[in-house]
Amino acid sequence: MTIDKNFVSGNIEVLDIQGDTVTLANELRDIWEERDWFYWAFRVTGAAGRTVTFQFPHVNRVGYWGAAVSTDLYSWEWTGGRRAWTAEDGTVYEAFSYTFGPEENEVYFCYNMLYTPARFESFCSQHGLKVEELCLSNKGRSVPYARFGSGEKKILLTSRHHACESTGTYVMESVFQSLIENPMEGYEVICVPFVDYDGVVDGDQGKHRLPHDHNRDYPIDGTPSIYNTCAAIRKLTDATPPVIALDLHSPKHHGGINDKVHIPYNLEEETERYNRFSAIFAGKITPDAIPYDPADNIPANTGWNKSTNATCARYMSVKPENELSFVVETPYFGTPDGSVVIDRNTMFAFGQCLVAAVREYEKDM
Ligand SMILES: [Zn+2]
Repeated sequence: MTIDKNFVSGNIEVLDIQGDTVTLANELRDIWEERDWFYWAFRVTGAAGRTVTFQFPHVNRVGYWGAAVSTDLYSWEWTGGRRAWTAEDGTVYEAFSYTFGPEENEVYFCYNMLYTPARFESFCSQHGLKVEELCLSNKGRSVPYARFGSGEKKILLTSRHHACESTGTYVMESVFQSLIENPMEGYEVICVPFVDYDGVVDGDQGKHRLPHDHNRDYPIDGTPSIYNTCAAIRKLTDATPPVIALDLHSPKHHGGINDKVHIPYNLEEETERYNRFSAIFAGKITPDAIPYDPADNIPANTGWNKSTNATCARYMSVKPENELSFVVETPYFGTPDGSVVIDRNTMFAFGQCLVAAVREYEKDM
């Protein structure tokens, strides 16, 4: 059995292998304040036919449904059954087990359902869209993005300002798909799926990156961005700012508000707009989608959600042309009672509800 991280978005450190029990840690990398973040992704080869337990000697590393598992980095399922294990010092941590099929020689496991750049390429080719180059990343990689429509007004879709937050990209894909299949007249859609592209490719957590992360790289006083992708997004939108800008994220690990969809409001003076949109959005939620209750939104200037944060959503909000700019946080797992489970179907349905709300809001803008 071999365990490695040598693929797009890989991140793991193998601490120990004893028979069918593997002890692992994630690599935190480039994060301020000793933050205890959770993201990991690894590949197992040569374990066909075996049942292996993977355990982490840190809390908050495994979600409610175990690990996300895939054989192609495209389709993901949950392994099910998060397990507890007790370390020598008596501390209880989290683990999951997996029984490899007789032919399963190469299997990927991830903290959450990963959305890779290859998936976006495949999405674009299915819809006849060309993937274009937004810019070169700080590490010299070609950063992909796509545009659709030829209207004068712009809709901006972004995700992965924080590299590991894949649920946002699934929701973004669903919104983008709807806007391609049923275009909004007069609009061009600009879709930047991987803002921290280096972090996505390298398998970084990305949140609270040093000296600041990508969603703190949009100063409104004219200071240049330090990340090429953020600079490119500013350049792309400064001439014609987006009328509508949706920045799709995932929250923290799980528990409490992190198990629920929520919208952190940017600017206090925009509260009425957010409230109006949220009410429409809640009314569009279908039974097959992730539920949403506006009561879970975070008002501006509450806790970490400060209007002074140099976020992409705020940057777009302050433009006079902008009518709607906000973040949607989509949980990684769902609720522990199992009544809500995040997977590609519930995320797709949720994205369809979100775009339905945007369409209705836009009619009365
Ligand atoms: Zn985020």
